[in-house]
This record gives sequence, C-alpha cells and structure tokens, in this order.
Amino acid sequence: MELKSNAPVGPIEQSWDNHKFELKLINPANKRKYNIIVVGSGLAGGAAAASFGELGYNVQCFCYQDSPRRAHSIAAQGGINAAKNYHNDGDSVFRLFYDTVKGGDFRAREANVYRLAQVSVSIIDQCVAQGVPFAREYGGLLDNRSFGGAQVSRTFYARGQTGQQLLLGAYQALERQIGLGAVKMYPRMDMLDLIVVDGQARGIVTRSLYDGKIEVHIADAVILATGGYGNVFYLSTNAKGCNATAIWRAYKRGALFANPCFTQIHPTCIPVAGEYQSKLTLMSESLRNDGRIWVPKQSGDKRAPGSIPENERDYYLERRYPSFGNLVPRDIASRAAKAECDAGRGVGETGLGVYLDLADAIQRLGKRTIAERYGNLIDMYERITGENPYEVPMRIYPASHYVMGGLWVDYNLMSTIPGLFVLGEANFSDHGANRLGASALMQGLADGYFIIPYTIGNYLATAKPAKVADDAPAAKEAVANAAAITKKLLNGNGKRTADSFHRELGKIVWDYCGMGRNEAGLKKALAQIPVLREEFWKNVRVLGANEEFNQSLERAGRVADFFELAELMCLDALDRKESCGGHFREEYQTPEGEALRDDANYSYVAAWEYQGEGRSPTLTKEPLTFNYVKPSQRSYK
Ligand SMILES: Cc1cc2nc3c(=O)[nH]c(=O)nc-3n(C[C@H](O)[C@H](O)[C@H](O)COP(=O)(O)OP(=O)(O)OC[C@H]3O[C@@H](n4cnc5c(N)ncnc54)[C@H](O)[C@@H]3O)c2cc1C
Repeated sequence: MELKSNAPVGPIEQSWDNHKFELKLINPANKRKYNIIVVGSGLAGGAAAASFGELGYNVQCFCYQDSPRRAHSIAAQGGINAAKNYHNDGDSVFRLFYDTVKGGDFRAREANVYRLAQVSVSIIDQCVAQGVPFAREYGGLLDNRSFGGAQVSRTFYARGQTGQQLLLGAYQALERQIGLGAVKMYPRMDMLDLIVVDGQARGIVTRSLYDGKIEVHIADAVILATGGYGNVFYLSTNAKGCNATAIWRAYKRGALFANPCFTQIHPTCIPVAGEYQSKLTLMSESLRNDGRIWVPKQSGDKRAPGSIPENERDYYLERRYPSFGNLVPRDIASRAAKAECDAGRGVGETGLGVYLDLADAIQRLGKRTIAERYGNLIDMYERITGENPYEVPMRIYPASHYVMGGLWVDYNLMSTIPGLFVLGEANFSDHGANRLGASALMQGLADGYFIIPYTIGNYLATAKPAKVADDAPAAKEAVANAAAITKKLLNGNGKRTADSFHRELGKIVWDYCGMGRNEAGLKKALAQIPVLREEFWKNVRVLGANEEFNQSLERAGRVADFFELAELMCLDALDRKESCGGHFREEYQTPEGEALRDDANYSYVAAWEYQGEGRSPTLTKEPLTFNYVKPSQRSYK
C-alpha cells in the first residue's frame, strides 16, 4: 500500500490556508443531507460533533460513559499550549512548531505540526468565548506557565483542572446542538465494529451497555475520537475505561496502525504502592515549574527527606540539564528517574520513587501562592498517600500516560479507509516519538474545532457516498462478528477474571516494551504474549449475561483487544532499531545515555496493516522529510 500524506507543498506558513481554500465546500442547504457518526465525546470528539452540528450536518455521537461530559479528557490537569506570546518571552508559531518537532525527536510530519501551532492561537480564543475560566494574572490577562521541552511560558491553565474546564466548554457546545436536534447523543454505547461498504467507512456496530442490544448505525462518514490505549500497560494514569477497541477493530477492517510502540511514560506519577493496585494517579507536569526533583546522593540512604542535608542531595535534572533543568521533556525526565532508582538511589519503601520538592518554592512564593497554583493536586496527593506535600516532598515515579501511536491519518485526518477519520489521541498525527506536555489538549481541540470541520466537507463533496441500507451484507457481517466475540467471551467457563489476565499482560508490556526496550526482551514478550492470550481464551470467566449492565463483559472484550495490540507494539518496537523519544532501545544510546536516532534508516512513520488472524501484519513506511527543523541530536543541556 502506498501512503499518501496529502500534505501540501509550498511554504509551510501558507500551506494550511492554501489547502483550506482548495478544499471543496458543501453549501449550507445540502449539509443537512449528510449523516456523520462521531465515536467519542472527549475534547476531540465533543468539539467535532458540536462543530458539525453548528455547520448543519446530521450528527450521531457515541460514548461509553453515561454522559459525554465524563470522557477521559475531564482528567487532564496541567494545561494547554498556545503560541500567543502573552508573556512576550520570545514565543511564536514557529517556536511552538520547532519545539514540538524537536520534542517529538523528529518523527512527526512537519506540515501537521506547523498547522497545529498555527491553530493553537484560535483554540484559546474559542475556549475563552465559551467561558472556559483560564487562570488570569492580577491585571486580568490570561496567565501562562511553563511545561517540559520549552523555554517560554505558553501553557494556559485552569488550576490543575484544565481538561475539566475545556471539556465543559466543548460539552456545552455539544449540548446546545443536542438541544437543537442537530446532534443525537448515544451514551453508554460501545462501538464494537466498523462497517465498510465498497471500501468506504459507512457505519458502526454498537452494543448498548444497558441491555446488550447490538445495533447498526449507518452514515456517510465515521469519525473515531476514542482516546488512547495507555491502559494496555494495565497500570496507567488513564481512566479504567480507556481502551483500544474502536481503533483496533477499525485496524482489523483495514485502517493502518501507525507507530504503535510510541508510548509515553510520564515522569511524575504517584508510585505504585502494592500488588493489588489497579490505577495510577498523575501529578501534573506543571508541578515541575516550582517543584525540584532530587534523590539522596548516597545509594540506599533511607533517612527521612528532611534529615538529608542540602549537600547530600542530588538535583539530578538540574545537574544534567542546566538549560532546561526540571523542565526537560517527559521521556528524558522519566529515563533519568529510572536510572537513579536502578542505581539504588530511589526513595520510599519500594525504592521506585524520587522526590518532587516544593519547599524552595513555598519559601520563595508563600504557601498561598503554591496552593492557588496546585492546590487540588496537592490535596489529591495527600488523600492518596497520607503525606502532606506542603511539609514533606512528594514521591513520584514514571507511569504509562499517553500514546503517540494510533491509527494512521493523512493531512486531512483521514485513515487509510476512505470516510474513516481519526482525531485526538486515537490518531498518530502530531507528536512524533514523544509528546510535549500540554500538547494533547491542543491537538484534540485543533482536530475537532479547526481541522475536521474543513476536511470532512471536501471528502463528502468528492466521495458522494451512495445510500446504504441497515441490512447491507457488510453491516450484517459486522453484527455477526461483534455478537460472536461477545458470545465467545460469555461461553468460556474458565477460572480467571479478565482483569487478572490484563494485569499479567500489562507487566509483560511494561517490563519489555516500557521505558527501556531491547531485542532480547522484545522477543521474550513476543513469545509470552500469544501463550498468555491462548490461556485467556481458554480460561477466562466472564460473569453475568449479555442482556444486562455487565462491566465484566465490557472489560473482557477490551482485554482481548489489548492482547493483540500488545503484540503489535512489541513487533513495532523490535523493528525500529534505533532510539527516539519515548522509544528507548537500550542497544542504541549515546555515551551519556540519551536516545540515539538513526535518521538514515528510520526517519519514517511505521504503519502496520492487518493481514488476518494468525498472519503477521505488513509494514508500510511513510518517509518523513524535514525542510524547516533540521534533525539534530536533541539536547536540553
Ligand atoms: C491524568 C491525565 C492528565 C492529563 N493532563 C493533560 C494536560 O494537562 N494537558 C494535555 O495536553 N494533555 C493532558 N493529558 C492527555 C489528554 O487528557 C488526552 O490525551 C486527551 O484528553 C484525549 O482526548 P480525546 O478526545 O482524544 O479522548 P478522550 O477524552 O479519552 O475521549 C474518548 C471518547 O471516546 C469514547 N470511546 C472510547 N472507546 C469507545 C468505544 N469503543 N465505543 C464508544 N465510545 C468510545 C469515550 O466514551 C470518550 O467519549 C492528560 C492525560 C491524563 C491521563
């Protein structure tokens, strides 16, 4: 298969404007003749569904929560980037573009990233107009703070609840369209398959989470905005419900999966406390604005942090990366924390933790200012650990948090299946091998508010989708497939819960395809995963019935998909014989232990194509070219 990025040629500053002008339009009276399905009501899907409704399309929006307002975007804490340059500190569209391409270790498509930086500015205006209560300075202007990988302050925030406030903005816009009848909302619906007719995405199969009813929904185009698959690791900062099912089943219908091994391990999470833990909690990167990261210089030092004098502490990020200090990008901060812990300098009972210390900032700025900036995060930490970060440093450790991999999309956000568009964390588009903090919210809203509303019209105007009946053979076949998976799960009469398999799978992926990867480990994982998957299908026990609210059935289906995805992740990681961003192949590192890219051989997007059960997927490469930001060894020193 040939992958056409459809990225415009010509000066990058004008490419999005020129492209928009060239896109075909649909006149307002005709828009109501088109039906669009949006799966997902987070920032990406919610923004898209609301925008489509506003434009005049008929929209059906699906989510598995009881309300669109509960999408996982609600959990985002620290902020959203935009190149407004309010601080007059040297920011610009080009600098945000530059930082993002470099932050992603030169594995993202330049044209997409430039457009993202351009529209970032409009996102803030849009959200302010919706009433999103961004933090303000004393004079009333919007405030900014800094996030990793940038030397400017460009992160807009609403305390530690930025995602919540942004989602409430998108949700209100969506509800308005629901009220006007332009959008029909389907909460508590699980998308279980994609319907492809004559090579075009024409609908989805859903299962009602209330009563198990399987339904067909037909449309002229399908949008997937179903979030990330970080829960493949079992323990992650994602909500328990986050899953890969929608994109995985679309992959099995022919959508290529790009860079599956590019996952982000976030450096500042509350460390794992015990074997039975099922969820990890993020402490926002914003804390690194004021918190200083350190470990005792002496390995095995078990003294309480307050008893360790200043000269016996190692502020290792400030020492190793004097220019960026505690605000180095996530991949670098995570690896550095792991290296300290591996060398025996980790803190806390397990030794898998480093300190994030607010003491200096409290002394400098006062407790009140720190509480204003991070109060809810500090309270959350105290509730979970029983320790008070105003008095004792927080303990943090890296954890699975975000995925840069996802379904491959072109510049128009269309997958390799015509009519199937993918937005937000579910696509692979803009972050390369490492996402900079505060850039996911920016991408989700850029995709939903500012990109897809243009590109969808062009698709519909050119593809002119014909009518498809609810009982078309492809729809019937997809229904049968979804029902068969459900039946197989319920018919198993084994002894183990799906969760217990998920925990075991997650450990394999974490150990061999986590912060560090190597050939031997990846081969081991590729041998172990199929064995465990077979055991899953033989020995899983799903309680309850299909025709009821049944969360163990819901989970079991997701675990089944994670098994297959985990294998693809390891295959991709094994194939990419270089280190870049979050993909750290231990065999390929600089003498200082930094990621060592191989641009001559691996400057491409790896897109995998499903070939059927039991057969290896095939790899297609989309070459990456860099005309504006010259690839170099990333340095934050
Ligand atoms: C704790 C935490 C804090 C974060 N903080 C920040 C931050 O400060 N700044 C930042 O930029 N990023 C942050 N991120 C990342 C960011 O929040 C996410 O990448 C982003 O919100 C994803 O948005 P989305 O719209 O793509 O997906 P989501 O918000 O995850 O929405 C997915 C939607 O798809 C639906 N869905 C999924 N599967 C199915 C299915 N099979 N059938 C039907 N519906 C389905 C869900 O119901 C939901 O509506 C954070 C992430 C975490 C975990």
